[in-house]
Amino acid sequence: MKTTERGTSRSPRPGEVRLEGQPVSSGVAIGYAAIAHDPEPPPIDTARHDCDPAHERVRLHEAITRSTAQLRRLHDRLALLPEDGQVEIGSLLEVYRRMLGPSRLRRGIEARLGHGMLAEAAVQLETEALAAFMLSPPGRPAPEGEDAVAARRRAGEFREIGRRLVRNLSGTPYRSFSTIPDGAILVAEQLRPADAALIDPSRIAAVVTEEGGSTGHTAILLRALGIPAVLATHGLLARIGRRTRLVVDGTTGQVIIRPSTRTAAAARVEVAAYARERQALGRLRRLPARLSSGEVLTLQANLEIPAELPMIAQSGAAGIGLLRSEFLFMNAETLPDEARQEALYRPLVEAMAGDPVTIRVVDWGSEKNSDALTQAGIGTGSDVNPALGLRGIRLLLRHRALLETQFAAILRAATAGPVRVLLPMVSSPAELHEARETYARVGRRLRRRGVDIPDPLPPLGIMIETPAAALMADVLAQEAEFLAIGTNDLTMYTLAADRAATDVAGLYDPLHPAVLRLVRLAADAGLRQRRPVSLCGEMASDPVAVPLLVGLGVRSFSMHASAVPRVKRAVRAAAMDDCRRMACRALEAADGPEVSAMLLAYAATLRHAGDG
Ligand code: PEP
Ligand code: MG
Repeated sequence: MKTTERGTSRSPRPGEVRLEGQPVSSGVAIGYAAIAHDPEPPPIDTARHDCDPAHERVRLHEAITRSTAQLRRLHDRLALLPEDGQVEIGSLLEVYRRMLGPSRLRRGIEARLGHGMLAEAAVQLETEALAAFMLSPPGRPAPEGEDAVAARRRAGEFREIGRRLVRNLSGTPYRSFSTIPDGAILVAEQLRPADAALIDPSRIAAVVTEEGGSTGHTAILLRALGIPAVLATHGLLARIGRRTRLVVDGTTGQVIIRPSTRTAAAARVEVAAYARERQALGRLRRLPARLSSGEVLTLQANLEIPAELPMIAQSGAAGIGLLRSEFLFMNAETLPDEARQEALYRPLVEAMAGDPVTIRVVDWGSEKNSDALTQAGIGTGSDVNPALGLRGIRLLLRHRALLETQFAAILRAATAGPVRVLLPMVSSPAELHEARETYARVGRRLRRRGVDIPDPLPPLGIMIETPAAALMADVLAQEAEFLAIGTNDLTMYTLAADRAATDVAGLYDPLHPAVLRLVRLAADAGLRQRRPVSLCGEMASDPVAVPLLVGLGVRSFSMHASAVPRVKRAVRAAAMDDCRRMACRALEAADGPEVSAMLLAYAATLRHAGDG
């Protein structure tokens, strides 16, 4: 008997049963269920106010030390994980590590201890208060769409670090996956991101949970680890026992309990196909990004935080095409000075071992936020429409000391390897000119002081992410030494559709011919002025879109490191003539869906042709 159900609970019985959950990480697996339970920490007395603050502070301090050590051990495991997993887990561990440092969370907990609270209670109440603040900030409308997703994720991070501290305060151990048999399918009511980070993808065949959603950190981590996973599979636990056989399809979200012989055989065929696909992608890393017609492209990686570095180094990326320096300011309480910035840039440049690193000066404003800048009195001014207000280079030219400090730190670090300096949100040649004068002045000042910096100064380039910059690219390229097309913002500003708003998500389409025409203008301007042009928006990670961008004249792409192998496969299968033909048709198309249909049809003709 086969049934397809969603979420009702009935007692287990023999026969094949199909449930549907949320598919979060593709791939098919077949194996026996291993059900994981967590030991619960003892209940917390939040009403007590008679504790000795000094004693509780010592306990808190010890719990922080233990938590930090656990996070460090998790971090040490990063190198053992597949590269895709290293980025997501590394980023998350970095967030937790910062929270345990001199953070708002720490200050809040310590203030509560001052009122005689038990450390466990102070941690629980403070993390809950911060999570609640994220979900509905007082005096502001509750976040919606993408903002709501980000707020839920941030709230989850506070709760997670709170749970870790409480466990360490009460001596309650974490669940261990070490006893789970090899090849088993991990089943749990819920899986926290830190649990996901402990999973060894070479041992666990798949993950299924009753709770969770596709945009949370756990889902992101499981995707990054490459483990087939289905979350929110309601009613699963009521139907299975230890060693119940399961088939998990992380692409469709189907979980099959006690598969029939025929179902199991079909699943085994799919498991083998998935393994072949991963192996093929792995082999690609060492091959060049050469079109089937012979032209060689450059594929680089974007870097958001330093923890992504190991993954970039192994992804086959030829350097960092976009280092978003916002991470320096994001969770910081004070502005990082020249020495601190240099200390962060230098190891990144060194680690790339001769491959270039493009460092973008801070692009603060619009949806990006920074406590450190706000506290230093550097506001973006416009509440009305922040995306159209003081952002990127506009803000930096207004707060020149910030720009000068960052230029100086980058110039000092640039003796460690090839560096390029990138200006965000340029919309007029005057901005570039002013920034270039500042850059040269900072260079002269450092030399006068006897500081070792490269001569000539590293190339100074601009983002092409406003329609004005794209339309003026030929003029800008006379003074900019390179152009980096940012299709994320270029799409937003061209189509007047916010990149983060769900209600206009249908209008936000980087394949809209209006956006493509601007990309073409920028690529042409670079070619005519002999300036290198790269593209570093999310579009560069899309293997289906990249052949079209090649046809539009772009030869260098910077993307999320995990996307490099798939993009390389698409590139190696494509031929320049086809790319150019598609570009001509796309520029004449009426809308994005028409372009998308053409690209998908082309991709279908190439499937897997670039593996060899
Ligand atoms: C872009 O706008 O495409 C870009 C790469 O910059 P960011 O996403 O950081 O705004
Ligand atoms: Mg941008």
